[in-house]
Amino acid sequence: MLVEAANRLNIKTLVLDSAANPASQVSGHHTKDDHIIGSFQDPVLIAELAKKCNVLTVEIEHVDTKGLDAALEQNLVDQIHPTPQTIRTIQDKYAQKLHLIKHNIPVADSKDVSSAADIDRAVSEFGVGYPVMLKSKTLAYDGRGNRVIKSASEIAQAITDLGGGPENKGPELYVEKWIPFSRELAVMVARSVSGNVVSYPCVETVQKDNVCHIVVAPAQIDGLVREKARRVAENAVTSFDGAGIFGVEMFLLLDDTIILNEIAPRPHNSGHYTIEACHTSQYENHLRAILDMPLGNPEMKVAASVMINLLGSGSTLEDMESSVLGPSRAAFSVPGASIHLYGKESCRKGRKMGHITLTANSMPEAAAGTRTILEYNGLIDT
Ligand code: ATP
Ligand code: MG
Ligand code: MG
Repeated sequence: MLVEAANRLNIKTLVLDSAANPASQVSGHHTKDDHIIGSFQDPVLIAELAKKCNVLTVEIEHVDTKGLDAALEQNLVDQIHPTPQTIRTIQDKYAQKLHLIKHNIPVADSKDVSSAADIDRAVSEFGVGYPVMLKSKTLAYDGRGNRVIKSASEIAQAITDLGGGPENKGPELYVEKWIPFSRELAVMVARSVSGNVVSYPCVETVQKDNVCHIVVAPAQIDGLVREKARRVAENAVTSFDGAGIFGVEMFLLLDDTIILNEIAPRPHNSGHYTIEACHTSQYENHLRAILDMPLGNPEMKVAASVMINLLGSGSTLEDMESSVLGPSRAAFSVPGASIHLYGKESCRKGRKMGHITLTANSMPEAAAGTRTILEYNGLIDT
């Protein structure tokens, strides 16, 4: 989607990713052989990409940031956005949290832990008992680095599930106070190299099994709370260096308190709806931001929008049919539905295979279209 936006602006993009990645399939100014096939955690390949480009950016934060530092030091590339340091801080969710606390952004209480005894102590310190959330500091996405601990007897299993923890030479962990949120909100914020900032409308995200399932834009909450979420997100993003678009995930409590969950230093699933529903998409504004062009209007150009993720239910053709192709076919008959299929090589359980965005003149109209699509094969459950 980033490359599609680049194509329209005549911006030439080269991609470093594994073979058959969707981005290189749609690059309008390069042939397949120009792209670099391999891991974005390989500093040699990062250097190779840097030599061919003027500006580097990321679509995922789990890249080798030392490779990015080296590319700048050796003048292989003019600029990298966001800065390698910003990506480094954000990719460690605990370091990100300490940074946000330093900048007075509201976050959940959390504690660095390396053993079961540490977790037990942290729960006492939080003072509200169980449950708590145990999290991996790095390489987390779609909730794969998270485990809910409902009682002291579940601590050991949670540590094992996350790879053993530092005591057993496993990944670094931290524990987080449970947030009894009423809704989850998200705001995309773009900042250009010159420092201009725009933020998108506040949306509600609905997660199923820790994975984003549906996005409702704008969030159906008090407009003042939506604006408050926008300010929290802007303050959080501007506390980091570097240009680009950032996705800010937040918790809303029943008393309208907003607590920031985490930041993504890149286009974000909660901003996919902006392609059809806003004047300028998150992807185009990311490009404008990192190339220091004027930022585009982030406001919605329709009254309501809903985005539905197409998550694979398994690896067979039947799974692909029931979870991806079937709902897409149902969307053909829904006015205002735009279908995005990513061209990923294989379908897997929980894999994001595509999404559908509905635009509508009212939220009830968008809700009706959503129901038609989700009712396909009983995907609807609430
Ligand atoms: P992403 O794919 O968004 O990067 P992630 O793996 O980094 O996800 P988080 O965003 O930390 O995971 O958490 C995933 C989901 O788990 C959240 O969207 C929320 O629904 C729930 N969650 C996370 N932390 C807490 C908490 N402290 N209290 C209650 N629920 C939480
Ligand atoms: Mg995350
Ligand atoms: Mg998250």
